[in-house]
Formats: sequence, C-alpha cells, structure tokens
Amino acid sequence: MRKGGVMTGIGTSMVAATCLAAVLLLCTATLRAGQSVSPEEKSAGAGYEVLKRGVVERFGSAKPREWGETVTGVKTRLNSREKVIALTLDACGSRSGMGFDAELLAFLEREKIPATLFINARWIGPNQESFSRLAANPLFEIANHGLGHKPASVTGKSVYGISGTKDPAELVDEVELNARKIEALTGRRPRFYRSGTAYYDEVAVQVAQALGHQVAGFSILGDAGATYTREEVKKALLTSTPGSIIIAHMNHPQGGTAPGIMDAVPELRKLGFRFVRLSDLPLK
Ligand SMILES: [Zn+2]
Repeated sequence: MRKGGVMTGIGTSMVAATCLAAVLLLCTATLRAGQSVSPEEKSAGAGYEVLKRGVVERFGSAKPREWGETVTGVKTRLNSREKVIALTLDACGSRSGMGFDAELLAFLEREKIPATLFINARWIGPNQESFSRLAANPLFEIANHGLGHKPASVTGKSVYGISGTKDPAELVDEVELNARKIEALTGRRPRFYRSGTAYYDEVAVQVAQALGHQVAGFSILGDAGATYTREEVKKALLTSTPGSIIIAHMNHPQGGTAPGIMDAVPELRKLGFRFVRLSDLPLK
C-alpha cells in the first residue's frame, strides 16, 4: 500500500520497468566519476536512483513561494474535537544533541503515555540500544526526522544559520534515506516526517508526501528546542486544546523538558485529556 502509494505518486512504475538498465549504467558512471556516496545511498541500490530521478523530474522546475513552519500541506493538529493530545519528541543528533532523556521516556513508559518519536539518522548510532527498545514498544511510533537534520527546501534556503537541502534530489536523500534506515532497523517504514528545524517550503512538503510521508508540524511549542525551564514547559503544555500536537525534545536530558512534561501530564489528565500517537487519528 505504502510502496504502491509512492510509486503511483511519482509515476515511476513504468520508468522502473523500462529504465533499470539505463539507471544501472548511470550509477556506475556516477561512482566512476568519484563522487562521494553515503553508506545509506550505497546500500539503497538502483531502485533508489529510479525513485530519486522520478521526484526530480516531477518537482525539479517547481518554484516555491512559502517558507516557514506552517506552509501549505504541513499538518499541525489532530482532526478531532475530543480531548486528545499528541506528544511528539524529536531526537535531533547534532554534536550537542546526541543525548537520551532516559528519565522522560521511563516516565512515559511507566504512565503508559503514547508518543511519536521523530528520530534523526545521526542520533541512532550512539543510541542504538535505546532506539531498538523504544521501537519495539507499541506505546511509541518511530517517525522520520531526516538524514542530516536539514531544513526542507528545494532551493537551499536557510533558517537559524542552517542551510536547507539544496534541491529536490538532496531532499529525497534527506527524507528517503532515513526512512529506509529506520525501516531496515525496525521493520516498519515511518509515516510521518518533520524536517530539522521544522522549516519547509511548500514544494518540499509535496516531495515528502510523494515519498509516502505526512509532514507533521505542531500547534504547541513545548520546549523551544529544549531551552525552556521546567515551569515554561509546564505552562506551554497546559495551553493544550482538543487536537493539539506538542513538539518537545528527547535528546537533552539536562534541560527542563522532562520535569516540565512530568509536571503537566497529571494536570492534563485531570482536565480530561488523553494522549495518542499521530497515527491514531487523522491530522489536519
Ligand atoms: Zn530536530
């Protein structure tokens, strides 16, 4: 279904059938030219090149007009009037962001609070054991936070001094190679994508959709990149309304995120809220 969606989405099934030999030649030529190829790309194989070319053909000439966290196509809420909240936690994997908030995750497990975990490829290596354990727990779902944690652009736009992906081809690497990495490790392909910095142009959102992902924004800034104090985190979470999606971080154990969430959850429950994963309800 998912795979079918992707193939239909970019119309590559015919291409796949007829051009595989040509693509294999192209791959060989690329390797001979001595261009650097990431380990993920190398193991992705010829089918991957076909997929990437299909996306480039479809979106290569599109000119984005929007840039931000809530551009067209980004889902920011659960489509429900019930008192449901989705807690989403990012693991970003920058040099200073390789930590694992064991206290926070242990709390969620103990209290049976579902969450959607947006995992960047770089974070997995140093946290392999925690990653595997979380992925095996049905309370959590693993989502895609990119290969290199880049803002999702088809033109190389930057935000916070971080350069976005420079074109649709690099964006395919950013989204698809981490999706494949996660699928290889967990047996499940992620269904949701959030870019590094959560910035997009609207064409980039369409590219992620063509690769079978819903793009998950947020309606509540839970910890502002793990910079909030305990009190600020709690205050932010208590602004939840039916259908809120909270963004916070699981890779900065020294910050106020865990204590703030642990303070807020019992109060939210008292107010009648329950927590769900993004896949539990439609998004809007
Ligand atoms: Zn991040």
